[in-house]
Amino acid sequence: MEISKELQDAMNEQLNFELYSGYIYLSMAAYFESVNLPGMAHWMEVQHQEEFAHGIRFYRHIVERGGKVIMKAIQAPKTEWTSPLEAFDDAYGHELEVTRRIYKIGEIADSQGDRAAQSFLKWFYDEQVEEEANTMGIRDMLKTIGDAKNALFMLDAKLAARPAAPAPPAESTGP
Ligand code: MG
Repeated sequence: MEISKELQDAMNEQLNFELYSGYIYLSMAAYFESVNLPGMAHWMEVQHQEEFAHGIRFYRHIVERGGKVIMKAIQAPKTEWTSPLEAFDDAYGHELEVTRRIYKIGEIADSQGDRAAQSFLKWFYDEQVEEEANTMGIRDMLKTIGDAKNALFMLDAKLAARPAAPAPPAESTGP
């Protein structure tokens, strides 16, 4: 079943939003570098790679379903934050928005009885639970840490250990 125009447009929009998410996290990485928190910068760089892989998932689904991918301009991200807490609070808020948008695409797929799209989106529903939990968890640790510099550096060292993002799923081999 070919993807509908409405779903194709919604997924193209989400492809762009995933790349925008990656852009935000790379901007946060640069902020953390500028305030000498290399572990948090590393965590955000890995997050940026993950978002790019999410974008590729939407790219492939659109193509495999006979749709057309349209690349659009990526919005400029914020470049300064007043504290690590503000950055991670923004990251958590951003992930809530990503979840809201993905659910919206799910509603379109539901209304069209598009089971292939629903099956594809299921991975993202699960992923968003993790994304929200991760960003909320770090945000809450930063709240607890407050002005305690030594605790901040301990958290920074912990976040430096985040493993690299897995590669996006392989391209289908085609006919
Ligand atoms: Mg994402």
